[in-house]
Amino acid sequence: MDKNRELSKLKNSILKFNKDFPGKNLVFSDGNKDAKVMIIGEAPGRTEDKLQKPFVGRAGKILDSLLESIHLDRSKVYITNVVNYRPDKNRKPTPEEIYKFKKLLFKHIEIINPKCILLLGATAATAVLNHIGPLGEVRGEWKNIKIINYYFDILTTFHPAFLLRQAAKKKLALNDFFKLNVKMNS
Ligand code: URA
Repeated sequence: MDKNRELSKLKNSILKFNKDFPGKNLVFSDGNKDAKVMIIGEAPGRTEDKLQKPFVGRAGKILDSLLESIHLDRSKVYITNVVNYRPDKNRKPTPEEIYKFKKLLFKHIEIINPKCILLLGATAATAVLNHIGPLGEVRGEWKNIKIINYYFDILTTFHPAFLLRQAAKKKLALNDFFKLNVKMNS
């Protein structure tokens, strides 16, 4: 598969949703399309919308530091979000928005074809695992899930914006990143 060609086709499909997010920029992805790990967040915030890159604001700094703890940086991971436009007033994406973007996200996963996937927070867990309910029910547990035609190893951890408010949970998040490191190198 020609990843660049497929990614550019996918980008064009997502651009059609721009009309539902007037005045907002497409925030498609960052990192290395051939990375072993694909990281999926919720939706861009103000800084991400402005710079058109995921996780470049305050939550992004936490993500970068967690990645650094397992010797990774953006040249070694691929990062995207469930919803690729910033919802108005920084609200959470609605279930309808999650459902609408899910098909495109699954296509995105199929194109990148990572060795494993890291979900950040409840929106990503809802979109990819169909999980509704407390994040604690799925956080830190590897799941092997079929997405389109192939099975992927998927780990869920806290959203970095949650860690900004709940610093005590960073230890658990670090544990999750260590588990990710083991899987990536297995
Ligand atoms: N939060 C997210 O879920 N994604 C971003 O890109 C930034 C903040």
